[in-house]
Amino acid sequence: MNSSEFRRRGKEMVEYVADYLEDIEKRQVYPSVQPGYLRPLMPSCAPQEPDTYEDIIKDVEKLIMPGAASPACTELEMVMMDWLGKMLQLPEAFLMEKGGEGGGVIQGSASESTLISLLAARTKAVRRLQAASPEMAEAAIHDKLVAYCSDQAHSSVERASLIGGVRLKAVPSDDKFAMTASALQEALGKDKAAGLIPFFVVVTLGTTSCCSFDRLSEVGPLCNKEDLWLHIDAAYAGSAFICPEFRHLLNGVEFADSFNFNPHKWLLVNFDCSAMWVKSRADLTGAFKLDPVYLKHRHQDSGLITDYRHWQLPLGRRFRSLKLWFVFRMYGVTGLQAYIRKHVGLARELESAVRQDPRFEICAEVVLGLVCFRLKGSNKLNEALLEKINTAKKIHLVPCRLRDQFLLRFAICSRVVESSHVHLAWEHIRGLATDLLRAEAEPKAAAAEIKN
Ligand SMILES: *Cc1c(COP(=O)(O)O)cnc(C)c1O
Repeated sequence: MNSSEFRRRGKEMVEYVADYLEDIEKRQVYPSVQPGYLRPLMPSCAPQEPDTYEDIIKDVEKLIMPGAASPACTELEMVMMDWLGKMLQLPEAFLMEKGGEGGGVIQGSASESTLISLLAARTKAVRRLQAASPEMAEAAIHDKLVAYCSDQAHSSVERASLIGGVRLKAVPSDDKFAMTASALQEALGKDKAAGLIPFFVVVTLGTTSCCSFDRLSEVGPLCNKEDLWLHIDAAYAGSAFICPEFRHLLNGVEFADSFNFNPHKWLLVNFDCSAMWVKSRADLTGAFKLDPVYLKHRHQDSGLITDYRHWQLPLGRRFRSLKLWFVFRMYGVTGLQAYIRKHVGLARELESAVRQDPRFEICAEVVLGLVCFRLKGSNKLNEALLEKINTAKKIHLVPCRLRDQFLLRFAICSRVVESSHVHLAWEHIRGLATDLLRAEAEPKAAAAEIKN
């Protein structure tokens, strides 16, 4: 949608809301639809090709308004999470259409998804241990529980362990910045020998520092064998798995108990929208369910409905699935795939430009839209380059430290980015590097002259 259409549609939307408010007395306060009304009225997959905006708005009036906020909000979310799950080729166990044990839910953030998984896993572990040894007190169990992630995991995993009150061990990653099964096995062995109780593992697909991928297909079976909850954090990279050529990066998801990524990071959906799937919804509802009288509702025990309040921290929920519905239909699966491919292509273009300048080096494999690079030389030199880039304020880069190296990260992530922007940015960086290297060389040259 270009900006002139966006202006027109925005104005139409204000009219729609104003009409709604003016005519609100004519609308029913409670919907007449039955639970489960929506799914049969909708296609079972996202469209491959884009729909028109008119078609979508017509469907809002036809399909959503009769269901008002409830049950439409829950039911559209269930269908959208299935559409998205199918785009990612998730195993059927994570989908809801056949009424299985698993399912998807929209959370606000990847941090929340990790926390919820950790808390559910903690409850499950405590119950399992107490079933085997009823004399064990819950507090004594909490004291021994250990969660694991790689040393490249996002800080939100450590926060989840702090909030959840359990130990967290960072498993050393290998030379590709990935957690391997043997490194995890070693950590588990040590902790079990010390009397601790491993219960939860976070695998990261697409780490924040350098977009590395933990070895899911070997860590997964180990987690299953050891009875550990496996959570996958693919906050950034997950969007790419809608492309068949990147789907292999998700191989092993069948071993996971929970999987999460953020469509708000790289799938054209506005903040916030974090997609989370679990293999067994009872793990969440079993851990977090409370039913005070003021929250009881008519169909509660009918077995017909999904009650998302038991899947999340807050009680109230936003109608976030509308954003998914609009985006999936406006772009179509092919449009979304093209968007991901364009960004990955631009990252590769930048990578080859960096490789053509012998002063620079690429520091981690470029898999998706992130390019990690540095000037050959000291960390101090690279810190000075970053400082120059960020004070010039033409572009903004966020650095990272990998092992002992300070590096610069170039992330392709704008909806409107073009090849020309990437090349302009790179020429800008090269120019600043030239200035910096010259300034570095001058005092040395001057010193050499004095000596002579
Ligand atoms: C961005 C990111 C997060 C944090 O996401 P929030 O939704 O802001 O909590 C967590 N993990 C990874 C790998 C990320 O890239």
